[in-house]
Amino acid sequence: MNGAHLAVEKVSHTYRRGRQQALSEIDIEVNPGEALALVGRSGCGKSTLLHIMSGLIAPTDGKVWIDGMKVEEPSPSWVVMFQQPSLYPWMTVAQNVALGLRFTGRSGEIASRVPEMLKLVELSDYADRNVQDLSGGQQQRVALARSLAPSPEILFLDEPFSALDAFTRGSLQRDVRRIAKEFGITLVLVTHDLAEAVTMAERAVVLSANPGRIRDIVPIELENRDDLRTPEYAKARGRLAAAYENAAGLGLAPVAEPDAGDADSPRQHSSALPAAR
Ligand code: ADP
Ligand code: MG
Repeated sequence: MNGAHLAVEKVSHTYRRGRQQALSEIDIEVNPGEALALVGRSGCGKSTLLHIMSGLIAPTDGKVWIDGMKVEEPSPSWVVMFQQPSLYPWMTVAQNVALGLRFTGRSGEIASRVPEMLKLVELSDYADRNVQDLSGGQQQRVALARSLAPSPEILFLDEPFSALDAFTRGSLQRDVRRIAKEFGITLVLVTHDLAEAVTMAERAVVLSANPGRIRDIVPIELENRDDLRTPEYAKARGRLAAAYENAAGLGLAPVAEPDAGDADSPRQHSSALPAAR
């Protein structure tokens, strides 16, 4: 596997039923193998931007390039993981993991590739189990194995761990980062959880809302990402929190509430504030 280069060029977007522009003139470049976080309060356009980057929706204006090729539609070379793992409940773990290969016409690789991926996500002993018997964290690992099986060059993550408990979330964050680094996969992570951004990414793009614009780009330089108690971690987290609060207008000016049609729940909205940990 080899990570791809991603370039977002002057991307703006207005939903047909949207009352306001969702994104305005976004320019971002992500290097091959880099892990980039998109952070900002609920409704600032993170998911919209991720959907545009991965070709799921076409922007009103601007372009996205992956390794110099214009993105027009989704591709097996890049995969998106969402909060819900969306597995087929009537299939076994191994059958679910095989789907990515089956859909891309690579069924011949299933026999070798599926056990390899299950090992990578530490689910080798669960191959023949029904996915319904697994915990939420294990199901998300199945989704991860399914995503990784076709050797993607970019992994797009849209708050994929936010439904999990803190312990499970932490171990998945570390594992996804480890796997991405091992295979050189480029990672683009949408999150409102600043600790998650610091744990997983080398750089965070901070967005402000109405319309979504880039307010800041914060480098996250850390020697050791596995220990959350180092002074370096606290410093990086503090720097990102300051940029986030600034972009969200917290304590500075009133911020308009996101549209009623916002996909995010009020619960996620209130947890958008950086939590003490
Ligand atoms: P985030 O992921 O940062 O919470 P979104 O990208 O989901 O933000 O939404 C950005 C803005 O676009 C919000 O104001 C939201 O209400 C609006 N929006 C999202 N999806 C649609 C849609 N399908 N139609 C109209 N407006 C939308
Ligand atoms: Mg979202």
